[in-house]
Amino acid sequence: MDEQNIFRKCIACNTLKSRDRLIKITINKAKEIQVMPDSKFQGRSVYICKNSECVQKALKKNRIYRILRVNPDKFPEEKIRAVLEN
Ligand SMILES: [Zn+2]
Repeated sequence: MDEQNIFRKCIACNTLKSRDRLIKITINKAKEIQVMPDSKFQGRSVYICKNSECVQKALKKNRIYRILRVNPDKFPEEKIRAVLEN
């Protein structure tokens, strides 16, 4: 199966999109967070559209922290913003 064709839902706008159009954020059992992790990094994941509107919304509503069960202080927001700039 082609991984790129798997659709995921953006936590900000609830739209289903193919994975290449989304930013993936994963937290593992050791509470390490990776933005756009490689396939070896396993854990709870959320997806956000690759646009600043959805990123702002996801961070502002604290939804992302609740889903990932992480303290906002420990969240690498700048890494998510960096993906948008690429
Ligand atoms: Zn979205």
